[in-house]
Amino acid sequence: MRREGIALVLSAPSGAGKTTLIKRLLAEFPHFGYSVSCTTRQPRQGEAHGKDYLFLSREDFESRRARNYFAEWAEVHGNFYGTPLEPVKDMLRQGQDVLFDIDVQGAAQLKLTLDEAVFVFILPPSMAELERRLRGRGLDDEATIERRLNNARREILEARWYDALVVNDDLDAAYDALRAVYLAATMAPARNPRLVEEMLAR
Ligand code: ADP
Ligand code: 5GP
Repeated sequence: MRREGIALVLSAPSGAGKTTLIKRLLAEFPHFGYSVSCTTRQPRQGEAHGKDYLFLSREDFESRRARNYFAEWAEVHGNFYGTPLEPVKDMLRQGQDVLFDIDVQGAAQLKLTLDEAVFVFILPPSMAELERRLRGRGLDDEATIERRLNNARREILEARWYDALVVNDDLDAAYDALRAVYLAATMAPARNPRLVEEMLAR
């Protein structure tokens, strides 16, 4: 029987560097499927519909939610976000590993529904550095930055139930840690069911 893919679920307070780390991971492991979420927030500069997100109106989002279109959904920083269920199920069923970039509320929902999921929380080195990065990114207005910082403490307290914590201080070190968590998951005995028998037979 073909094994299911690994669901690698990444959460972080906004500005911690999750997008930066995900870009690196997808560049090194292009076989990853990416779970493209739906959102009701406005696209930022450089974001593409269908690649970064499906950008939906609130009405469209709510009608999909009512049809159980989402594996999980949550309201984050005043907008709705949700993971379309079918594409993810298809990729995992075909043995493809899938990366999820979702908030702590959504991750908690996925923990109840996805087998073989690995949950990684990316921490900034400090709250002061988180604020510096949010401002330095230059993507959000002042009110949005304030809202994101207010949410960050609450989100970070949820990090305790994740499988792994990665502190994104030095980017290279953080990436090495994230990569190690992923590679360890690929080596789990459950994912290599015939390895032991085949070795003994040689
Ligand atoms: P997120 O996706 O978690 O909101 P981003 O990846 O957009 O965060 O990163 C937020 C900002 O911090 C960006 O300007 C990014 O270049 C910067 N950044 C990311 N990682 C580091 C790091 N290790 N050291 C310094 N700056 C970083
Ligand atoms: P941003 O607006 O900065 O892209 O994302 C804001 C937050 O929403 C991030 O914490 C991101 O992980 C989260 N997010 C993105 N997509 C989803 C999703 O499909 N479901 C949930 N629950 N959160 C999401």
